[in-house]
Amino acid sequence: MTDPDTSPISHWDHSGAEPDHSAPLDGDTACDLCIVGGGYTGLSTALHGAARGLDCHVIEAKGIGHGGSGRNVGLVNAGLWLPPREVRNKLGDTLGTSLVTTLGEMPSYVFSLIETHQIRCDPRRNGTIHAAHSPRGLADLTRRASQWQALGAPVDLLTPAQTAEMTGTRRFHGGLLDRRAGTINPMGYARGLARAARGAGARISTHTDAQRLRRENGHWLVHTDRGTVRARNVVLATNAYSGTLWPGLEKLFTTIHFFQVATEPLGARADAILKGGQGLWDTAPIMFSLRRDGDGRLIIGSMGAVHGPDGALSRRWARKQLARLFPDLGPVDPGTPWHGRIAMTPDHVFRMHRLEDGLFAPIGYNGRGITTGTLFGKALADLLSGADPDSLPIPVSPPRPIRARRLQTGFYHAAFAANQLWKSL
Ligand SMILES: Cc1cc2nc3c(=O)[nH]c(=O)nc-3n(C[C@H](O)[C@H](O)[C@H](O)COP(=O)(O)OP(=O)(O)OC[C@H]3O[C@@H](n4cnc5c(N)ncnc54)[C@H](O)[C@@H]3O)c2cc1C
Repeated sequence: MTDPDTSPISHWDHSGAEPDHSAPLDGDTACDLCIVGGGYTGLSTALHGAARGLDCHVIEAKGIGHGGSGRNVGLVNAGLWLPPREVRNKLGDTLGTSLVTTLGEMPSYVFSLIETHQIRCDPRRNGTIHAAHSPRGLADLTRRASQWQALGAPVDLLTPAQTAEMTGTRRFHGGLLDRRAGTINPMGYARGLARAARGAGARISTHTDAQRLRRENGHWLVHTDRGTVRARNVVLATNAYSGTLWPGLEKLFTTIHFFQVATEPLGARADAILKGGQGLWDTAPIMFSLRRDGDGRLIIGSMGAVHGPDGALSRRWARKQLARLFPDLGPVDPGTPWHGRIAMTPDHVFRMHRLEDGLFAPIGYNGRGITTGTLFGKALADLLSGADPDSLPIPVSPPRPIRARRLQTGFYHAAFAANQLWKSL
């Protein structure tokens, strides 16, 4: 039986070079800005807040990167889940264009933070490939390519032959290469942000559970199991891992799971697979992802949770998918699978909520959190150190619970489990 408190939460938890420093809160304290959640959003808020002179304190219930930040695929994407035109249709021309532009520039910003703080997260800026699983998928990518190219973005539509050459499989009908994007070790980035935030003067307390929030004399009291933090402002950076700390927060999104499995290092036999080091995901409604790590492992994943005793079904799924994509690869031995939670919103656009005076909750990144979390953290730090609220990447909006959220979550869970089972046969 594995101990959930000491077992690695993902392949990234034990494969990165960035050290994991952790210490719990030691009694009551006070600060300008208390941040609940030690993922990209919380850590970027702390790093940028401390750099602007705010006294920041991060409270994390488990270890750094315990949520999506330490479990994801590591694709540093340039943009939202939606293509640029749909973003403009949903948010209007001015806001939509500015958001698309800002997020398009965010991979550069993430890679520059990695460089500045020498974050050891195996950064590779060779682009990502969105691969067409069908002729319809290719039509979607063709539309996306023309919209991005109209904005001057360095994206190329790949022919089936070019896609086969870059990916090592003839299974795709084409692809979209986004040269702005890249890959990282996601846990390495989270731990590196924590190190940089500490270096800038922020305090970080891990294994400290924020259990209650209370307003008193114009300040917030964040009661934890290890003491109370008193702060002028609080950012709830708990995203898909939000619990009951603020009533109704977990009702603002639908939860889906995404699981992954890493093979053993494959050496020369996998040389032709994603040989340029790009990360890949496909256009199928139940999408899958594929990338390499620095040790020559393949990491493959899809929507859904880990299933089967010790993840046996998920491992079988990985073996089958790799054999289908790369018939010449030979047998592989997938390690322990892991999954994480993704917070989805009905329109696939993230939210920045102001729940009360001095209490903020950015949420619902729809599976695009490396750039979004970094951006939202920076924007909140700017706002709380005096910037104009109009400078936020997206205006603050009132929280709106999602109707039939549990039903939707249950439906997706069952559909993804059935898909995993079917594709493992
Ligand atoms: C499997 C998977 C694959 C993904 N792939 C990608 C990808 O390739 N590219 C990409 O950009 N995005 C991807 N995402 C999305 C991305 O990982 C998330 O959007 C991002 O990590 C969110 O960061 P965050 O800091 O907002 O929240 P999180 O990283 O989820 O952090 C929230 C933290 O809050 C803590 N917490 C919760 N409640 C409390 C409490 N009461 N007290 C103290 N702490 C608390 C949790 O322990 C957790 O550590 C993926 C997500 C998953 C799960």
